[in-house]
Amino acid sequence: MRVLIVGAGIAGPTLAYWLLRSGHHVTLVEQAPELRRGGYLIDFSGAGFDVADRMGIVPELRRRGYVLDEARAVDRDGRRIAAIKPAAIMGSMQRYVSIARSDLAAVIFEALEDAAELMLGDSVRTLVDDGNQVRVTFDSGQDRTFDLVVGADGLHSRVRRMIFGPDVQFEKYLDMVVAAFEVRGYRPRDELTALMHADVGFQALRLSLRDDVTLCLLTVAHRGSAPIGNRATQHELLRTALAGAGWETPALLELMPEATTFYFDAVSQIRMPSWARGRVALVGDAAAGPSFLAGQGSALAMVESYTLAAELARCSDHRDAFARYQQRLAPFLRSKQDAAIGLAPAFAPKTRLQLLLRNTVMRLMGLPKVPDLVMGRSFRDAVELPTFAAS
Ligand SMILES: Cc1cc2nc3c(=O)[nH]c(=O)nc-3n(C[C@H](O)[C@H](O)[C@H](O)COP(=O)(O)OP(=O)(O)OC[C@H]3O[C@@H](n4cnc5c(N)ncnc54)[C@H](O)[C@@H]3O)c2cc1C
Repeated sequence: MRVLIVGAGIAGPTLAYWLLRSGHHVTLVEQAPELRRGGYLIDFSGAGFDVADRMGIVPELRRRGYVLDEARAVDRDGRRIAAIKPAAIMGSMQRYVSIARSDLAAVIFEALEDAAELMLGDSVRTLVDDGNQVRVTFDSGQDRTFDLVVGADGLHSRVRRMIFGPDVQFEKYLDMVVAAFEVRGYRPRDELTALMHADVGFQALRLSLRDDVTLCLLTVAHRGSAPIGNRATQHELLRTALAGAGWETPALLELMPEATTFYFDAVSQIRMPSWARGRVALVGDAAAGPSFLAGQGSALAMVESYTLAAELARCSDHRDAFARYQQRLAPFLRSKQDAAIGLAPAFAPKTRLQLLLRNTVMRLMGLPKVPDLVMGRSFRDAVELPTFAAS
């Protein structure tokens, strides 16, 4: 089949990889002029790790990734409140790696070995599904036809809007925004340690990466719509929300305009009754974004793409494949979404009481066995990956 995948983030190239394995002809269209860099450091484990393993990319993920020694919560003067060893949460660490989102995206893309057609700086303008094929008009003016179209175009998916309806029907905004940016030469550095400072309404985190890069991740409570797409307004929102914040937050904010990469988005979930209509389906954040709070959006996106491709390989009719893809994953993803909402107070406590609770839980997480009790389950995925029957 000729399959058009819209969006070359994490879900799109993963789907392309597996569809190519079944002999489909794949076209990837990405609206950015080049593959996008930036973003946070992803804790990569669970079923997503298993998909990466099946793709043979784990050695490269380990080479580019990090195994953190410590996640340390500090107060406004930088004094340690609590320290957690990621190894205590992830168990043996055999099937876990922390990796920058952009490195994960790059490694997946490299695994395609140029076998997919890539259209950069373009997007879909119209989609007409006539029952036998989908006629697509691109922003660049081209007209083409495909057997299937898959929207892997993220939280604010255009494919979803065009085929399923406006965002308001599906987007659950969690009254929080997230910003991630990288700066060079920041001091101090703490190798392999994530430092976190939270107060009412926010959390600021910094992490020293290779090549003298520091990654800063800010999560800020914000009611009302998030300013998507306007960098100056995003900076202003962060500066206002973090005025008076302690620890190193002022220094990090001062460097924000010089950031080498900058990512900003609403913290939202996508909850849809169905991920497919006719010959068009959705994967990744576009279909079932669990939000930043789940800490697993990329790994889950890979699981969705793998499962969709495996079902398309197994079923002769795409309608059956789409239905089985949804049946297999919908309850699992819903449980991830529900669990993520419970973690919101850790990233932007709303009250002093929530802050106190967060800090107490973090202290307890430093004790033996507690991390596994509190977090362990969320890193062991209750989902079985289908076998992949390549043609
Ligand atoms: C640069 C970047 C940085 C990120 N950093 C963070 C972060 O710090 N914290 C966080 O919680 N999540 C972040 N995310 C989101 C995170 O990557 C996803 O939650 C997760 O990986 C699911 O992947 P996805 O492929 O479904 O979506 P994404 O990784 O968001 O990929 C979607 C892709 O589709 C492209 N696209 C969007 N609209 C169109 C269109 N109309 N036509 C064609 N292409 C389109 C986008 O440019 C992007 O490449 C980031 C996403 C990006 C793109």
